[in-house]
Amino acid sequence: MFIRPFKRDAPALLVTPRYFDLITDKISGRQQSSTSFVPKHLPVKEEDIDKLDRLISVSRNILILTGAGISTESGIPDYRSEGVGLYARSTNRPVQYRDFLKSEGVRKRYWARNYVGWPRFSSFSPNLTHLSVCKLVNDIGIARCVVTQNVDGLHTKAKTKNVIELHGSAFRVVCLSCDFKIERHAFQNLLAQLNPDVKIIDQMMRPDGDVEMTQDQVEGFNIPSCPSCAGLLKPDIVFFGDNVPKDRVEEVRNEVKLCDTLLVLGSSLTVFSAYRIVLQAADLHKPIAIVNIGDTRGDQHALIKVSAKCGDVIPHLCR
Ligand SMILES: [Zn+2]
Repeated sequence: MFIRPFKRDAPALLVTPRYFDLITDKISGRQQSSTSFVPKHLPVKEEDIDKLDRLISVSRNILILTGAGISTESGIPDYRSEGVGLYARSTNRPVQYRDFLKSEGVRKRYWARNYVGWPRFSSFSPNLTHLSVCKLVNDIGIARCVVTQNVDGLHTKAKTKNVIELHGSAFRVVCLSCDFKIERHAFQNLLAQLNPDVKIIDQMMRPDGDVEMTQDQVEGFNIPSCPSCAGLLKPDIVFFGDNVPKDRVEEVRNEVKLCDTLLVLGSSLTVFSAYRIVLQAADLHKPIAIVNIGDTRGDQHALIKVSAKCGDVIPHLCR
């Protein structure tokens, strides 16, 4: 049985001990959390939770769209949040797809930093929001599909059914010339064999697992080519400047048609591949609810907008 943690007369009691036991039992390993990447925010208003709860209670087929804002509570920074997002902390920007294709130096830099960041990036755990989303899909059954912009695999770790990873997953590596694929942990072992002198230390983390490294470390880094065709290997994620594969776009479009409500969690909807999901839902007159700290590009289309931390809101929707 799922325990609804929200109590009208005790709004500070957000998580009961029993509830916490349930979620920590649900995932393997220790529950990790960090608030250092969560932007400044006010406590959620009870009336906002009530409004959202009313919409959810009459919905039978919710499509949930999630962004980097739901993973900040797991300790992964987002890109754009004021003060705590990656862009506020560093002048470096994510690699562009065209640069990755044309420059060996860019690929070395990418893979060297990705190699060093991988043990930490791959160790993050789902937080209350991921686990509540899982509950809405798997157990309560009022949400049938989750579309995520995140490549951190946390919905998969939470064991959520029917997740579409819009921008792919950092947990797979693919060849750009043939259909070779390798699981990212296995690829880490290949990189370790080829780079025995590169030491892995705790570094600043990015939303895609990237970290900072010196020029010497980067230039000396060895990258394997595809064992089948000697082609270029790349993580199975949609880089900045690349497009979401057409069949995935179609799959998402179909889910928007089928849903009766769109619930957006932790996304500023700055990236068009996510924003167009909101536009399609608005065109089809589906009710749209958005939970995000701060403004989003889709606010004008939202029936309900809650500016709050997802972990303060979403567990209340699970009954
Ligand atoms: Zn290949």
